[in-house]
Amino acid sequence: MMYLNNKRYNTFDGYLKSRFGCKVAKIPLNAGFSCPNRDGTKGYGGCIYCSPMASGDFAGDKNKSIREQFDEISSAMRKKWHDAKFMPYFQAGTNTYAPVSRLREIYEQALEIEDIVGISIATRPDCIPDDVLRYLAEISGRTFLTVELGLQSIFDSTGKTINRGTDFSDFLKCFYRLKEHDIPVCVHLINGLPGESREMMLESVRRISELMPHSIKLHMLHVLKDTKCAEMYEKGEFSVFEKDQYISLVCDELEIIHPDIVIQRITGDGSRENLIAPLWSIKKFDVLNGVDRELLRRGSYQGCKLTLS
Ligand code: SF4
Repeated sequence: MMYLNNKRYNTFDGYLKSRFGCKVAKIPLNAGFSCPNRDGTKGYGGCIYCSPMASGDFAGDKNKSIREQFDEISSAMRKKWHDAKFMPYFQAGTNTYAPVSRLREIYEQALEIEDIVGISIATRPDCIPDDVLRYLAEISGRTFLTVELGLQSIFDSTGKTINRGTDFSDFLKCFYRLKEHDIPVCVHLINGLPGESREMMLESVRRISELMPHSIKLHMLHVLKDTKCAEMYEKGEFSVFEKDQYISLVCDELEIIHPDIVIQRITGDGSRENLIAPLWSIKKFDVLNGVDRELLRRGSYQGCKLTLS
């Protein structure tokens, strides 16, 4: 497997360039969705790390239309990449948590934008009823759709600690229903959740790689202000990674991920004003460069520790 962008892993940027022949930038949007884990349907308060912005700190302004949000963010990106194409990314909240008629109103606004090559929708495994699944399959037949499922860990004990409100079997059911409809799935995993050992984090990655999702996102736990996680951190209930530990873990994880799986992310974006720890994660390029250097030093690359048939 040849990796693009001189990386030793299969980056999303490289994947999109080879698939669409140009730079493709994701445009994070906020359609104002809530979440069943925050409004009381499944739970209150949400996942312990979820920010008051419902994980959409970098997304557009929910009071503006989808088109306005898209234009605002994409025009800034066009200055950097003149010939770029785009992927609207529905990031904030649970983006399938509405009647399918409402989802249609929202997603059709994004789908009619020129210069898009696909869309990305982030959601929870317990929020894709059959009618929504059929609509997602329809979108997938029309454009490049990725559905991003927040799993974070395969361990249900961790799921309870982080107040996820779903278990691994919910994830698996949803994952296979999406796969049956040929809808590419991106699985989110978080390194450094309270109570998790390094071996547990590696086991989550190993298990998810075996499922062969389209892509995986890895990032470190960000302790953000005004979250349950911040309270726990301040009480000393868990600690965060040092940068070198994190880089070493990510390299171990990449080595056991199947080389055909696209790596959408290996580090997180905590909003600077709200981030309590780890502060080193603000310098995202330090982490990315550190991973590149460590893989080079090891002479290793994505999937090198797998025996492929
Ligand atoms: S599922 Fe997502 S939006 Fe909902 S509480 Fe958890 S992190 Fe926040």
